Amino acid sequence: MPGIDARTVELHYKLHHKPAVVAANKAEEALAKARESNDFSLVKFYEKELAFQLSSHLLHSIYWTNLGGKGGEPTGNLARALASSFGSFAKFKAHLAAASVAVEASGWGVLGYHPVTQKLMILQCENHQKLTAWGVQPLLLVDVFEHAYYLRYQNRRAEYVNKLFDIVNWDNVAQRLELARGAP
Ligand code: MN
Repeated sequence: MPGIDARTVELHYKLHHKPAVVAANKAEEALAKARESNDFSLVKFYEKELAFQLSSHLLHSIYWTNLGGKGGEPTGNLARALASSFGSFAKFKAHLAAASVAVEASGWGVLGYHPVTQKLMILQCENHQKLTAWGVQPLLLVDVFEHAYYLRYQNRRAEYVNKLFDIVNWDNVAQRLELARGAP
């Protein structure tokens, strides 16, 4: 696949996404035990774990489905929504790429739909759970943790981000927008 090599995807899934699922389950179990025993001494730790690890799982699950497409430009409702929210597809792309490249340390560039404003918005997420806006529905995600690109791109995050646009599956993003618009 242009943009991302198979080894990166394999390591990314096995060593980063999958362990997050295990850790999220562990945090839920630990919190259930805390309620049972009425011992909340580690509640802060496990609440933080739950937010971080579950968010990692959710974002990665979307990221995989966003990729494997032919890039280019979207059409239909998604194209209209992008133009309406950001001025044009080119402006949207420049904005999302810049936000992704500029994430401090590890995180995600996020295109999301907000049901309250009924608009698309771009967010710059740190780690997996910080700097979000409550209620936003992620539609297209750019993983900028180094594990997402370091094998092929080393420190060239901007190059990775730009190449990622060549393999976006816009049908998947469009479908997510339709679902999000239907969401309460
Ligand atoms: Mn990742």
